[in-house]
Amino acid sequence: MPELPEVESLRRSLEPYIVGQVIKSVQVFKPKLVSDKGTKRTENLAKVQSFITGLTGQKILSLTRVSKNIIITMESGAIILVHLKMTGQLVYQPKVGDTVFGGHPIESLELPSKHSHIIFELDDGVLYFNDTRMFGYVLYYPDYGAMQLDHDWSKLGQDPAQGSFGVEQFVEDFGKLSGMVKKNFLDGRGVVGLGNIYADEVCFDAGIAPMRTNKSLTQLELKKIVKSINKIIPLAIEQGGSSIANYLLADGSRGNYAHYHKVYNRGGKPCLVCQRDLKSIKLAGRTTVFCLKCQG
Ligand SMILES: [Zn+2]
Repeated sequence: MPELPEVESLRRSLEPYIVGQVIKSVQVFKPKLVSDKGTKRTENLAKVQSFITGLTGQKILSLTRVSKNIIITMESGAIILVHLKMTGQLVYQPKVGDTVFGGHPIESLELPSKHSHIIFELDDGVLYFNDTRMFGYVLYYPDYGAMQLDHDWSKLGQDPAQGSFGVEQFVEDFGKLSGMVKKNFLDGRGVVGLGNIYADEVCFDAGIAPMRTNKSLTQLELKKIVKSINKIIPLAIEQGGSSIANYLLADGSRGNYAHYHKVYNRGGKPCLVCQRDLKSIKLAGRTTVFCLKCQG
């Protein structure tokens, strides 16, 4: 699943291509994907109808992001919310020029493919939402308020890609959470978008064992975590994310941040700081790699 740096990289690379264009037509081949989020959703044909009528003829005003939700806002105020989940992909194929890919890697260059479930015809090209496993969703809202009613973002932590990541706020929020540091990272508590890769990298950089409880963290340790987040996430975005587990940038290239990984995917290998073998355990259901000596 792409983490925040991957989604932000995709957003940044797709933005210049689609903002300002008018959606000329919309085709929905898998009604489930526009009906709801969640694995137990069913097809809602009324939602498909409002998706198509609400978006056809609309001009794209902006491409923004809340956590890992990509938000495409129309000039009318209507919104398309895209979540790639495991295998979602956004592909823009201009009439002239190279195709722009983002998300899950392409299985074939043929477009549309059998996995192109939603197709937007724009002025100068076609935007495809492809998804092999179909956990992703593409939802329509008539306005921002309707989207807010459907998503409780009030408990979301701060966004480390927004350039306004507040130390005091984080120290206060994160320090009083119950449970383990790694689990709270994965749940987006205190800070959004750190999945398995960046949670482990941040813990290593800050010298914090991932199974520590939040309440055991000192003020100094909390500040170290902020410092590590502010170092790792912007660099990862700059490098286009990690492109482990099937992730491509919108321009079709792979993210380079994987070269910077110090612990992720390195269980049993020597720690880059102390040379001791890195330990790999299961934590919160995820493989977690850390150094027994460097992380206390
Ligand atoms: Zn070490």
